[in-house]
Amino acid sequence: AASEEDVLEIAGVTMRFKGLVALDDVSLGVPAGQIRGIVGPNGSGKTTLFNVISGFYVPSAGKVRLRGRDVTGARPYRLSQAGVARTFQNLRLFDDLNVRENILIGLDRTRTAWIWRYLALPWKVFGYERALGARADEIIARFGLTGFAGAVPRELPYGIQRRIEMARAMAMSPSLLLLDEPAAGLNGEEVRQLAEIVRSIRDSGVTVVVIEHNMGLVMSLCERITVLAGGKVIADGTPAEVAVAPAVVQAYLGD
Ligand code: ADP
Repeated sequence: AASEEDVLEIAGVTMRFKGLVALDDVSLGVPAGQIRGIVGPNGSGKTTLFNVISGFYVPSAGKVRLRGRDVTGARPYRLSQAGVARTFQNLRLFDDLNVRENILIGLDRTRTAWIWRYLALPWKVFGYERALGARADEIIARFGLTGFAGAVPRELPYGIQRRIEMARAMAMSPSLLLLDEPAAGLNGEEVRQLAEIVRSIRDSGVTVVVIEHNMGLVMSLCERITVLAGGKVIADGTPAEVAVAPAVVQAYLGD
């Protein structure tokens, strides 16, 4: 399944929690510039897979590779430095910070270690902050958040909060973006806007992997879909292929 151009390669990944096998010998490869969908019933292992890719869990077996480099078991901050950014099913925005500050935190986690920030000479610090501020404003504009920059997330509509989280992830200049149910709680118009944003992210050269329950969105947005059930890959193909795969029909409808 994996090829040389794959940005992300999952090879034989198994994740056990005590008696439970959340991922069972999962393999998949995502080529550069693809929007890949991950679907499956509740409890099929989708979020566990994201947690393995982003370093929150160390798999019991198997390998995770980024552009051919083995990153299995690397800490989350290492993976974010290596270009992996993610959003969460339940938003994790800082509610005592405004939108711009939330984005600045995303930028701050990109490259520079904290120690250098504190050791840096004052004029260097100021130059750095100014550069970050300009970049934050650029991202805020790109995500249509300019009018909300000074507001705190919890005072904003839910759809805007979701967009802020995506903007913060993009502030890290990732090469691989993991989106965990980005359409959850969005209305029809917001879902359409989300699809446009994700396509523009991909067009800017970022590879996107998206867990999503909204099948209309998955089918129209993703070039390829991996279907999980019971921790196993039961189908992998184009939207048209997986829609008619017998294993998929059975997993969703029961037998
Ligand atoms: P999905 O995202 O597809 O709904 P999950 O990846 O969240 O599925 O969960 C897959 C299985 O792994 C579930 O049975 C879940 O309870 C279990 N699981 C996930 N994380 C943990 C954990 N940290 N400890 C124990 N079991 C877990």
